[in-house]
Amino acid sequence: MITKNEVDLLIKNAQELLTLSPSVKDESGLGMIQNGAAAVKETKIYWIGRTAEFPKELSLSKGGQEIDATGKVVMPGLIDSHTHLVFAGSRENEFEQRIQGLSYLEIAERGGGILSTVEATRKASFDELVSLGKKKLDRMLSKGATTVEAKSGYGLSLDCEIKILKVMKALQESHPLDIVPTFLGAHTVPKEFRSNRAHYIDLLTKEMIPMVAQERLAEFCDVFCGEKAFTLEESRKILETGKRYGLKPKIHADQLSPGSGAELAAEVGAFSADHLEYVSQEGIKKMAEKRVTAVLLPGASFFLSVKKHPPAREMIEQGVAVSLATDSNPGSSMTESLPLMMTMGCTMYKMVPKEVIQATTTHAARSMGREKEIGSLESGKQADLLVLDIPNYRYLPYHFGVDHTEYVVKSGKIVYRRPT
Ligand SMILES: [Zn+2]
Repeated sequence: MITKNEVDLLIKNAQELLTLSPSVKDESGLGMIQNGAAAVKETKIYWIGRTAEFPKELSLSKGGQEIDATGKVVMPGLIDSHTHLVFAGSRENEFEQRIQGLSYLEIAERGGGILSTVEATRKASFDELVSLGKKKLDRMLSKGATTVEAKSGYGLSLDCEIKILKVMKALQESHPLDIVPTFLGAHTVPKEFRSNRAHYIDLLTKEMIPMVAQERLAEFCDVFCGEKAFTLEESRKILETGKRYGLKPKIHADQLSPGSGAELAAEVGAFSADHLEYVSQEGIKKMAEKRVTAVLLPGASFFLSVKKHPPAREMIEQGVAVSLATDSNPGSSMTESLPLMMTMGCTMYKMVPKEVIQATTTHAARSMGREKEIGSLESGKQADLLVLDIPNYRYLPYHFGVDHTEYVVKSGKIVYRRPT
């Protein structure tokens, strides 16, 4: 005998339901089910299929909700795989100076640049940072993000880096969005250590990393490997130390000049190498071999008018999983919109709509080791999904700069509904 089984949320009649599951074969490559439906029980997806094939033994629980997605697209919640979520202050003055032709150095001399954000973040109270972070998360959610990776790195002192990571923990506990915390004490060398950078490396490897690990405040350890930040040797030391303390490696690599950062990512077993404007042929090959995800950040290229773009097509053709992220930060990418990054991925990096959707779902999940829980719609996976008011998936990156998000479901609950 079949027992009656109840579900808590039912979404049906979707024009296109993108599962991103390899078990659903179709021409789009996105695991698309036409006239699709999804049933959610508690926090997980319970059933996925065609609306017409919805099992008779399933019914909606008392108080359960139903969404009619006729004419709309349903897909996994978006995953932002690279953000600098927690900081204070903003740098619109610097933006204007840059438009007027001032150089990075001149801007720094006038008090701009990353160190001005460090100063503002050090001064800000814990509660101020929580409140700023919450506003950012709300904006991300309204654009369709359900999980975001978040890096520290605007503290650059033991106390302030710990403060930032604790702010992330407080946000995780109070906001529906999931935060994947990354320790980026190696964002840049702070002013007080400029004449003695070896001491800062000591502080990172002997005090900060052990403390972050001991208090379980981060899952990943990241380093800005490049000209204006940390050398290859320093980066290796920081990432290897992180690994010894159980922090998984990630790396900002090859952004401003060729630096063998992608090769280092493969060597240390990094989950992702990010930026990659100047990645080498060898780097691409090694990333493919070691399954390092490439996280590309078109918002920063766009905002800084950088002409040199990462070779996205080459990476894809050589089998590297490419993710796209906002890089949300006050200096080079002041945005919370992943859909806008998808449009830029298409126009600037020549990725096709299918690829930019994979880049912000399955590949983004892989870049943070969460592909078993999120990024695709399959029974048993976390019920993070979107209902978009668009007629088909190609429409999402095509109609840009506006919101198409009608509903966001996070862990089985409707956490956002577009104001009518
Ligand atoms: Zn970054």
